[in-house]
Amino acid sequence: MERELRLGIMGGTFDPIHYGHLVTAEAVRDEFKLDKVIFVPAGNPPHKVKRKVTDKKHRYLMTILATITNPFFEVSSIEIDREGYTYTIDTIKEFKKMYGEKTLFYFITGADAVLEILTWKNADELLRLCYFVAATRPGIEGNKIDQELDKIRKLYGDVIYKVTVPSLAISSTDIRERVAKGRPIKYLLPEPVERYIQKYKLYKEDDSR
Ligand code: NAP
Repeated sequence: MERELRLGIMGGTFDPIHYGHLVTAEAVRDEFKLDKVIFVPAGNPPHKVKRKVTDKKHRYLMTILATITNPFFEVSSIEIDREGYTYTIDTIKEFKKMYGEKTLFYFITGADAVLEILTWKNADELLRLCYFVAATRPGIEGNKIDQELDKIRKLYGDVIYKVTVPSLAISSTDIRERVAKGRPIKYLLPEPVERYIQKYKLYKEDDSR
């Protein structure tokens, strides 16, 4: 009997995408035996009110440049093509329609974001539709994260996992600040993404407040 398809959905603002994201996606793909990982740059996230997010077309193109050499990675414009605010529940439902009810979905994103999941739109339904993988780096309030994840597990069962990825010491905020200050970003992200940032003069002003 054919086994069900297992898909990773890598959600993030990717402003910009960096090696921390790429290493995370590859580590989760391996650990959870995923058939592929689809990167989904966030469209118009309702929770991003403090900071101006870079134009979605730039974030989408940088994500394509960064993932192009990995045959197990794809990029979807499902959220950037959507009008209005974008919610994970709508994204997962669309993927379910595309890939069929039997497909298992693993939504991968940063632990900080996953810890807020109970506040997301239709959280109850979402936690029944797919698994969640919270990515964090070593030494980051591990106990607090575990306690929060346990609370969610008590309510919804074994639907949420934590992975610790040392490369997540790299952060998009730090990269934006470095560019604004004229400091190097080499080796923090793929070279084509670095060139893209230079070409379109992204992050020249420090807007990462
Ligand atoms: P964020 O608050 O900007 O990021 C939180 C932390 O997680 C940051 O340290 C970030 O590092 C890291 N991170 C983000 N995406 C990651 C990824 N794919 N892998 C590893 N680390 C990651 O989070 P966000 O990017 O806005 O949102 C994350 C995802 O959750 C998006 O897909 C978003 O649409 C979804 N979300 C949905 C709802 C909802 O449906 N209501 C609400 C909130 C978030 P970097 O800054 O270095 O990336």
